[in-house]
Amino acid sequence: MSEKENDPPVPTPDEISQKLSDFLKENFGGAVDFTAMPGAPEVHDNHTEESEEEAGLDALDFNYRPRDIKDHLDRFVIRQDEAKKALSIAVCDHYNHAKYLRRLREADPEQAASVEFAKQNVIVVGPTGVGKTYLVKHIAELIGVPFVKADATKFSETGYVGGDVDDLVRELVQRAEGDVNLAEHGIIYIDEIDKLASQGNSMGRDVSGRGVQTALLKLMEETEVPVRNPMDIQSQMQAAFDLKSGKAGPRTVNTRHILFIVSGAFSGLEKVVRKRLSENSIGFGANASEIPMDNELFRHVNTQDFIDYGFEAEFIGRLPIRVVCEHLEAGDLLEIMLNSEGSLLRQYEQEFAEYGIKAHFEQKALKIIADWAVEEKTGARGLLTICERVLRDFKFELPGTAVRELNVNVDLLENSKAILEHYRELGSQISVEQAGEEVALFAAEFERQHGVSLVFDAAAVAAIGEKASEKGASTLQTCNLLFKDFQFGLKLIQKNTGRREFNLTADTIENPDAFLSDIVVRSYRDVESGVASDQSDQ
Ligand code: ADP
Repeated sequence: MSEKENDPPVPTPDEISQKLSDFLKENFGGAVDFTAMPGAPEVHDNHTEESEEEAGLDALDFNYRPRDIKDHLDRFVIRQDEAKKALSIAVCDHYNHAKYLRRLREADPEQAASVEFAKQNVIVVGPTGVGKTYLVKHIAELIGVPFVKADATKFSETGYVGGDVDDLVRELVQRAEGDVNLAEHGIIYIDEIDKLASQGNSMGRDVSGRGVQTALLKLMEETEVPVRNPMDIQSQMQAAFDLKSGKAGPRTVNTRHILFIVSGAFSGLEKVVRKRLSENSIGFGANASEIPMDNELFRHVNTQDFIDYGFEAEFIGRLPIRVVCEHLEAGDLLEIMLNSEGSLLRQYEQEFAEYGIKAHFEQKALKIIADWAVEEKTGARGLLTICERVLRDFKFELPGTAVRELNVNVDLLENSKAILEHYRELGSQISVEQAGEEVALFAAEFERQHGVSLVFDAAAVAAIGEKASEKGASTLQTCNLLFKDFQFGLKLIQKNTGRREFNLTADTIENPDAFLSDIVVRSYRDVESGVASDQSDQ
């Protein structure tokens, strides 16, 4: 489809889209939509041999062992050892298989097409804020594949309008910057999957929950998802545009090698399991039902428990790897603050450091923060809530003041108002160091303008700093005020005696005018008595 010179210029997708939308609206109201326009987006297809070297495939040249992945996760995620192990193994199996198939396809495409493989999709059970997303995110980062997270509720509540499960796959393509092959090996993580269960859910959720399970099931097995959303006019216009401008890439994304990880709190699942176990008289008393799900109990969870909980058998069957992320206790939260590489403390230290403030967290204070965070019942997220609550005023008020260090100790946590007041006072004190810098600036400028040099001793600098603090003014402003008319008197002295340098002490700062008139008078006296003023002492 080469363009001839007298062809009209190719309109942009936006322009076409606008024109067609206007046309349709005018003629049919909102009742007609576009579907099935041919075309594809600006995507690259790395299936072809010549592009095999492209960046995306580097990430897919998978070379990790489960232990490598767990070691990496250990740097960031505290506890959750079982989950780390299960995920590490699942990820290795998944990507090793993809790698094996890719090689086989090159050597023997027919055999490759006949290979069967049960995908290692994972279900993670665990309360909020215990590291589920954090684990998946770090895995995706380590192995360099795109990663998309969504909440299952996004799909069920809207009954698909605006929340199409296929969008997850298209989002992967976006994350992979258009590299469809890389997207086909990405990770899709869906939280709140338990909300799709029919058990105990109220009003209407049953129907759409089951519908979403079916839609997800298709994705988890293998399906082709159009790269462009067929219901979205803008996407279709873009596809048409790309086709015309010769940029067309693959039209669909195959989901065969996308790894699905789903998770949820599954509150009540522990009761389902305990009930069954107590019926079978295995020593898990049903009366211990308030104890949350842990790895010990989870060992006994079977597919039927998930079905009893409200899942479709086919759906849960596609999630063969099951694992628990356990509750975090105060000690774990302390450990997270102290030892996780992604610790919130590093973030706070960094944020304060941006304002020149060195924040220091005392261990005893961290213990209290951990205790308070546990009460929030949001796992490690509680740490952020507590730190924000405790430090917000300090973060707001201290930047730009003289405060250079913030000590987050027990006192600060327990008497935060009084401690904030203390820091306010400190902040209004101008440090000798700061005063020295500004006095030097003032003296340099004074010399430049008037040709006389002012030499302040240390006591004079401290006295100026104190005066500035008292008045709530800057050191520079204070100097300007104190020595407002000094140039006239000093120039007079210079004229009388040739003197160009004047020493200023704390006394001078106390009463600058008396000092000035005194030395002016003396300069006249010296002229009369013929004393060379450079040797005279003030
Ligand atoms: P969820 O389990 O609800 O997916 P997240 O993984 O999103 O929770 O955790 C929220 C934040 O809390 C993470 O970004 C991380 O900073 C911190 N966090 C949670 N669990 C852990 C953990 N086990 N180790 C270290 N940090 C954690």
